[in-house]
Amino acid sequence: MELIDTHAHLSYEGLAERIDKVLAASIAAGVVGWIAVGTGRQENISVLELTARHDNMWAALGHHPHYANDVTDADIALLEQQARREKVVAIGETGLDYYYLHSTAENQQRIFRAHLDIAAKLQRPVVIHTREAFDDTMSILDDFAGRLKGVVIHCYGGDADQTRQVLERGFYISFTGTITFKRSEALRKVAKTIPPDRVMIETDCPFISPDPVRNIRPNEPALLVHTAQCLADLYGLPLDDFARQTTQTSRTFFGLK
Ligand SMILES: [Zn+2]
Repeated sequence: MELIDTHAHLSYEGLAERIDKVLAASIAAGVVGWIAVGTGRQENISVLELTARHDNMWAALGHHPHYANDVTDADIALLEQQARREKVVAIGETGLDYYYLHSTAENQQRIFRAHLDIAAKLQRPVVIHTREAFDDTMSILDDFAGRLKGVVIHCYGGDADQTRQVLERGFYISFTGTITFKRSEALRKVAKTIPPDRVMIETDCPFISPDPVRNIRPNEPALLVHTAQCLADLYGLPLDDFARQTTQTSRTFFGLK
């Protein structure tokens, strides 16, 4: 089995300082590729350093909506320069978070649009974070319709109507360990309606350890198999078959070589 963790914060504390062990455990568990995701100025630099040192690790660079108030024009210009590197396969995570509102909605929207400009210009797919902001997220993405290489909604938690809207737009959906939680019955029901070839999986580590290993902290790529198993069961597929399909989807979506 060869899985790809499509969203891992490998530069975060708890993972970065023991990265060789984290990756060895990951490979032993069948998770053989990683997209390391940057969320801000310093993290993006750390992610570039990490991906330069490790095979089968690629970068997604962006400024998380939490930090939008602090993102400068120079940060955006630097992001565009960094994103031209070969190992940078996506822009993000970027998007809107009205649940925490750590930054104003206005700044979040402005910075989100700046990310989408870069993604359209460089033809990199985008990794979207959206929380309590679905309608605004979709309407901004609609302004870029036809110009984006690909869109994935990360850490998916949408309802049936939102899922229909996401799929109609041709976007992809990425599940974290939240799909495995006992309380996520509604999300599992929604997941069953999503064509498996539109689904990717991620840990979002160091966050969101899946069931039945929620007590293991921090989360890490080796634990991705539990999320894969949950989705394979939902689709009634053998784990190997689901793994092959979702890995192919990830390789194609991010253009991994
Ligand atoms: Zn994340």
